[in-house]
Amino acid sequence: MLFAVLASYYEKLEATTKRLEMIDILSELFSKTPPELMDKVAYMTLGEVYPAYRGLELGVAEKLALKAVQRVSGARETTISQLYAQHGDVGSVALILLGQKAQTTLSFQELTVEYVYSSLEQIAKASGPGAQETKLAILSRILSQTSPVEAKHILRIVTGNMRLGVADMTILEALAKVFGGSKEEFERAYNLSSDIGLVAKTAALEGLNGIRDFRIRVGVPVRCMLAERLSTAEEILLKTDGRAFVEHKYDGERMQIHKSRETVLIFSRRQENITSQYPDVVSAVLSNIEADEAIMECEAVPVSLDTGEMLPFQELMHRRRKKEIEKAVEEYPITLYFFDLLYLDGRDLTNSTFLERRTALEKIVKPSETVKLSYGKLVTTPEDLDKLFNEAVELGCEGVIAKSVGEDSVYRAGARGWQWIKYKRDYRSEMIDTVDLVVVGAFHGRGRRTGRYGALLMASYDDERDVFQTVCKVGSGFKDEDLEYFTNLVNSNRLGHPSPRLETVLEADVWVDPRIVLEIIGAEITLSPTHTCAKDSIKAGHGLAIRFPRYTGRYRDDRKAEDATTSKEILEMYRRQLKRIEAKVSEER
Ligand code: AMP
Repeated sequence: MLFAVLASYYEKLEATTKRLEMIDILSELFSKTPPELMDKVAYMTLGEVYPAYRGLELGVAEKLALKAVQRVSGARETTISQLYAQHGDVGSVALILLGQKAQTTLSFQELTVEYVYSSLEQIAKASGPGAQETKLAILSRILSQTSPVEAKHILRIVTGNMRLGVADMTILEALAKVFGGSKEEFERAYNLSSDIGLVAKTAALEGLNGIRDFRIRVGVPVRCMLAERLSTAEEILLKTDGRAFVEHKYDGERMQIHKSRETVLIFSRRQENITSQYPDVVSAVLSNIEADEAIMECEAVPVSLDTGEMLPFQELMHRRRKKEIEKAVEEYPITLYFFDLLYLDGRDLTNSTFLERRTALEKIVKPSETVKLSYGKLVTTPEDLDKLFNEAVELGCEGVIAKSVGEDSVYRAGARGWQWIKYKRDYRSEMIDTVDLVVVGAFHGRGRRTGRYGALLMASYDDERDVFQTVCKVGSGFKDEDLEYFTNLVNSNRLGHPSPRLETVLEADVWVDPRIVLEIIGAEITLSPTHTCAKDSIKAGHGLAIRFPRYTGRYRDDRKAEDATTSKEILEMYRRQLKRIEAKVSEER
């Protein structure tokens, strides 16, 4: 298959903002792709070469990509930076400059998808001293061989920013269309494997049966089960049929730990391999988990060297370094609170009930300073639930998480559902609660902020329809260095049009690919004719907006856009806020 064919599909995708059309285009692409290339095409369409858990990234920053464009086009540095400032996209810069050059030297080679992919693999695998130069040399070589349009897309792949509006769910939907079966079946395979390429290739080679045969495997991360939220103990018990196992909700980093005899792998909430940051976790698991093979989940919480008390989760930042890990391990110790078991010695437990999994977990965890079980109790009354909640908060937890114990309390990979309900302390008053929102647009700053962006258009995520809906425009809470930082980040994620997955009435000065998540707090939630969050749910023609929004200083780079607060959650928060106001009014009467 020629890469030019793939590039022509990317052109078509870029030209549409309609989701259904996108799925049609992708389906046509997948039906034309030879089976052995399916995985590669799926990865590249998302701006990747491997699934995240392999821990091999292309590692090409915009700066390096621009250098390659400069090398091949021979353009001057000032021209390049001007064009980049104008377009905010390396691909577009290459299209212009290589296009100009192509008019004088017309000698492209017909590159195949295999060739481009294996060059990208070489880029990803280059490491050690001189790696940047090797990456640059390989990239410059491909760019000198392709047409400008192909170069545009290759550069977008290597920088991991495709600007096509295609997400993993779009690909799964297209695959279901090509190979039959439901979207849910494809989602299940993806949730168990965290590998879009493997799903695509299996579908092409083995058809729907292959998709139905997906199994959980040690060493391959499972997409995490997530929690819904509620704000009173009564509501929680209503949802869980009057009985729930209520656990402390620790505020740290979620880990999915895979143990296979002497090998331990640690995956983040986003299925990235983070094993190298936590040598202490590896040895703790080896000595304190009594199982040959297991897949477990825990929350890693930083603790004080002096007192052993839990510390704010931000302290884990110190573990992100590449060098002197041993020193960081000593200075910033952590405790692991194990809360789930998905696989044990040849048995897939994801279809077992919560209490079966918990009982099995209790048998294999040998508590120590570092390894602990999450604290929890079976609760049947709102009073007991509130008591546990207050104890948890006092200990430094965020609140509690109530887990359903019914027949259907299985581990739902990749799903947010009512099997787990979080109950956090902030929900108790008018929007002291923070939300995680996605940047979808930006507005030029004025006065002191001239030359930078003065405000950002923020959106919540509608997880049922896979779209983003605007909910506020935030300009306060940013320090000078934040403004600088987010201006650069916005520029490198700029789009020429609103994202196809965005629903907006407001016009931003600049549109942004939805991938930057920020924590926002506001005074209250109000009805709004200009925002699209949960539109028409309360009042026709109205959405919801956050009044007086402010950036809390917490950049959620640990979250994907799809992990942002959902529109449904904001709607729930609005309804609860109304109830509280009604209660207050009737109290005062
Ligand atoms: P949230 O990130 O606010 O949606 O809350 C869910 C998160 O709480 C999970 O992803 C875990 O990282 C974390 N967590 C903390 N303690 C527990 C627990 N006992 N059980 C499940 N999740 C927990």
